[in-house]
Amino acid sequence: MRKTIPDRVRAALLATPAPRCAYVYDRTTLATTAAAVRAALPPGTTLLYAVKANGHPDVLAALAVEVDGFEVASGGELALARIARAGVGTADQIVFGGPAKTDAELESAVEAEATVNVESTLELRRLAVAAETAGVRVRTALRVNRVDDAAPPAGTHQMSGVATPFGIDEAQLAEAVELAFGHPSLRLIGFGLHAVSNNLDAAAHAAFVADAVRWSVAAATAHGVPLETINVGGGFGVDYTGSAYFDLAVLAEGLKAAAAGLPVGARLVFELGRFLAADAGWYAAEVVDLKRNHGRWFAIVRGGTHHFRLPAAWGYSHPFTVVPVESWAHPYDRPEVSDVVVDAVGELCTPRDVLARDQPVERLRVGDLLVFAQTGAYGWDISHHDFLRHDPPAFLVIG
Ligand SMILES: *Cc1c(COP(=O)(O)O)cnc(C)c1O
Repeated sequence: MRKTIPDRVRAALLATPAPRCAYVYDRTTLATTAAAVRAALPPGTTLLYAVKANGHPDVLAALAVEVDGFEVASGGELALARIARAGVGTADQIVFGGPAKTDAELESAVEAEATVNVESTLELRRLAVAAETAGVRVRTALRVNRVDDAAPPAGTHQMSGVATPFGIDEAQLAEAVELAFGHPSLRLIGFGLHAVSNNLDAAAHAAFVADAVRWSVAAATAHGVPLETINVGGGFGVDYTGSAYFDLAVLAEGLKAAAAGLPVGARLVFELGRFLAADAGWYAAEVVDLKRNHGRWFAIVRGGTHHFRLPAAWGYSHPFTVVPVESWAHPYDRPEVSDVVVDAVGELCTPRDVLARDQPVERLRVGDLLVFAQTGAYGWDISHHDFLRHDPPAFLVIG
């Protein structure tokens, strides 16, 4: 079901002028997905949206009525989150993460009364100065890169328990805690343990969360940290090429153990990007040419990886649905293929501008639309928009 194209999405696309090229974002899907996630989390859990997955202001506004706040990793995302927080909704919390915060960003985070997930001992010192200068205490969590992440579930990226630029090495934890306690402007509240991306195994994810709770309780006890926050990050996955899915019912069952291990006063925080936004987006691009070269069929579209880079970045074929467009107002014949496999490629002058390879099509004509489902997260936001300076897609927000 997640990959079918709803009628309201088709209608929105067909109402745009040719050559069609658009992202459609659906508020209803954003709301239902967020509500389903919320229902699967233990009572009292904080649910944040990780803005980097899709920073479109209307996406943030739609989620602001469903989530408790936003996770941001730059001054730009912080500004968007502040706008969304000022609107209608429940999203009043902001958590600022990321390994390369500037002083100006730390000052903005302090001003916005964000919680800062600190990624190094130097950053702790810099944050302390920003908070002292502002005359406030800032809620501070230590993002830790664990020595032996016992249970980071399989996913596309692993960020803890391995050498990455993220977090404070667990071996330095005592030093970091001591440093934080030495600065009254820092109010230490717990740990950030985001460790994985695109994990499809909900049972493994629940085990990871339970392990994060055990680790946090032990670390807080060992170092005397008041444990208010155990931020387990994001990482719920989406299966772009197959029919697997992250099973929220399995997660809910598995999280009971994690919730049972939570000390009084401690709260679990999830910051989800991909899972909240992916299914709420569709990327559509019109076929502008069909050609056969060296035995392969190419469907060349008005659009490409400068709008939707994920398949090129990860090296997979993103499935598409052909949405037929009947009108053809040209004096020449309409090119058409049937029962062939095509490569869906973009308008860029590089052979790497490939969205999908070897996808079978029953019938495909120039002027038809290729619609790529599950493109609401890490689609437009991770793409190199200015390469070749084509026009951007339209952005249609519906629902
Ligand atoms: C990217 C990121 C997230 C969101 O990850 P998803 O895999 O999209 O859920 C959450 N927390 C941090 C610190 C991140 O960097």
